[in-house]
Amino acid sequence: MSEHPNNHAQKNDFIRNIIRDDVNAQKYQQIVTRFPPEPNGYLHLGHVKSICLNFGIAKEFGGVCNLRFDDTNPTAEKQDYIDNIKNDVRWLGFEWADEARYASGYFDQLHEWAVQLIKQGDAYVDLQSPEQIRDNRGSFNEAGKPSPQRDTSVEENLKLFADMKAGKFAEGKAVLRAKIDMASPNMNMRDPVIYRVMHQEHHQTGDKWCIYPMYDFAHPLSDAVEGITHSLCTLEFEDHRPFYDWAVEKIGFDLPPHQYEFARLNVDHTMTSKRKLKQLVDEGIVSGWDDPRMPTIAGMRRRGYTPEGLRDFCDRVGVTKADSVVDFRLLEFSVRQSLESTTARGMAVLKPLKVTITNFSDAVSSWESQKADSVNARFDEAEQVLWLTQPNHPNVDMGEREIPFTEILYIDQSDYEIQPPAGYKRLSPEKPEIRLRNTYVLAVTEHVTDDNGNVIELKATIDPATLGNNPEGRKVKGVIHWVSASKGVPATVRMYEQLFSVEDPSSVADVHQALNPNSLTELHAVVEPSLAHSDAGTRFQFEREGYFIADSDEHSSDKPVFNQIVSLRDSYKPA
Ligand code: ATP
Ligand code: MG
Repeated sequence: MSEHPNNHAQKNDFIRNIIRDDVNAQKYQQIVTRFPPEPNGYLHLGHVKSICLNFGIAKEFGGVCNLRFDDTNPTAEKQDYIDNIKNDVRWLGFEWADEARYASGYFDQLHEWAVQLIKQGDAYVDLQSPEQIRDNRGSFNEAGKPSPQRDTSVEENLKLFADMKAGKFAEGKAVLRAKIDMASPNMNMRDPVIYRVMHQEHHQTGDKWCIYPMYDFAHPLSDAVEGITHSLCTLEFEDHRPFYDWAVEKIGFDLPPHQYEFARLNVDHTMTSKRKLKQLVDEGIVSGWDDPRMPTIAGMRRRGYTPEGLRDFCDRVGVTKADSVVDFRLLEFSVRQSLESTTARGMAVLKPLKVTITNFSDAVSSWESQKADSVNARFDEAEQVLWLTQPNHPNVDMGEREIPFTEILYIDQSDYEIQPPAGYKRLSPEKPEIRLRNTYVLAVTEHVTDDNGNVIELKATIDPATLGNNPEGRKVKGVIHWVSASKGVPATVRMYEQLFSVEDPSSVADVHQALNPNSLTELHAVVEPSLAHSDAGTRFQFEREGYFIADSDEHSSDKPVFNQIVSLRDSYKPA
C-alpha cells in the first residue's frame, strides 16, 4: 500500500480553500487555471510545482487548465523550447485544454486594448530615453517626476502609438505607458511601460509586429481573454497585483480573473532559474538541458526520475505563502518510493573483481540431483553455463529471466577486504564464505594481489549442496551479487552526486565556484544479460546498488549505458 499522504485525502492548502469557497458560492461556471511559461529555456523543478498546482487544481475541481506560452519577448524565445515544454508537461501526466495558447495569439486584441486605454486617457506615449524614464521613476522615498509627455492629448497619443506600430521609431525612442500615479508607494504603479518598440521577428507572428506588449500588461489581459478564474503565480508577483487589477478593471471585464501568489519552490543544492541553467548549457558545463544532473524536467527524466515521484514530492511540499528551502532528500525519497514496486531487479557489478571457481565442473555436474525443489535451472553442457530462472521482482509479478552462472564471475571489489573494518559482513580471509544471490554458497580459497597489494582476483569453490539449500552444519551469513564474466555484458554506469557543492548555488556570483567536481563518475561495470537487453528508458533496481535507468540516448544491448537514479536507501525520513 502506498503511504501517499495526499493521494486520496483532500488537499487543504490556502489556494484550494479559496477555490472551494468560490465553488460553493457558485461564483464561476467552471474553474479555469493556466500554466504560463515563457519559452526561453527548459522547464525545471520549480515549474513542476506550478504545473502540479495549476493542472492538479483543474483536475480536482472538474475544471480545465490552459497551457499558455507567455511569449512577449521574442529575443530569448525559440520553437525548440516550446516543443520541449509541451513534452515535459505531458510527461508529468497532465493535458491542457484544447490547443496550446500563446500571448502572441492575442497581440491584435492587446493592441486594441492599448488603443482603448489611450482613448480613455489611461495611457500615453513617452518619448524619454530608457535612462530618463528610469531616473524619473523616483525611489522608495521619493515620488517620480512626470514625463513631459504625460499630458499629451489623446489624438496626439493615438498618432504617436500608430507611428510606433508603423515602425517609425527606433528601439528605445518611444514607449507606451499606463497613466496611473507617479507618486505611488508601489513602483509598479508609477506609470509602467506597457508597449515597447522591438524591431525583432517573432517565432509565432513573424515580422508582423515591431511593437510588443510588456509581460505585466499581456499577462492579466491574456488571463481575462481565456476566462481564467484563478491566476496562480509566485510571491514575487505580489507587488504586481495592483497593476494586474488595474489593467482588467480599466478594460472592463464582467468577471475579471484574480491573481493569487504562493511561495516558490526552493530546494537545497539546486538552481531553479532558466537563465542560470542556460549558462551551464551554453558553457558546456553540462552535456545539455537534459544532462541527468540538471534540475530540468528533461534532465530529471533522463536521470530516471518518475512523474509519480515528482508529483508525490509536490504533494508533500504543499502550497503555502511562506518561503522555505526544501530538503533535496525529500525529492529522492519520493522518487525512490515510486520505484520500489515498479522496477525489475537485476545484478550489475559496478567495480568488477574476477572470481575463478576452481571446482565449477565438478560441482555443477551434480547440480540436478542436489538442487532444492524451488530451483528452476538448465545446464548448457557445450557452453558450460548453468542458466538459473528467477523472477524479476520478489513480490510483484514482472515475469522471469535466466541468469547465467559460469566458471568465472565478477563480484564487486568492495565485497572482499584483506583487512576488513570492524563489523564488515562480507568476504575476507577470516570470513571466506558467503551466499551468491540466486545460486550457490561460495568459499574463497585464495586472493591474488598486484604489486601494490590490491586484490585483483579471487580463487574460490562452491558448495554443490547449496543450490537453493542452506549449507549443512554451519550458518553462512551475507548475500552478495555477481555477474558471469563470459555471459555478462560490459556497461557504462554513471554515478551522480549533486551538481552543486554549495547549499544555495544561486547565491554564488560565479557559478563555476558552486560546482561539485565529483558530480559525475563513469564506471566500467558488468551487467547480467537481461539488463543489457533492455530498451532505452527502462528502469531497474540493481541489487544492493540502487535504482538505475538505461540511458534514453546512448543505451544499446551491445553497449549498455545506465544512469544512477537514486540510492536504495537513506536514513532520511520525511516529517
Ligand atoms: P525562470 O526564472 O526560471 O525563467 P520564471 O518564473 O521566469 O522562472 P516562467 O516561465 O515565467 O519562469 O514561469 C512559468 C510559471 O512557473 C510561472 O507561473 C512561475 O511563477 C512558475 N514558477 C517558476 N519558478 C518557480 C518555482 N521555483 N516555484 C514555483 N513556481 C515557479
Ligand atoms: Mg521569467
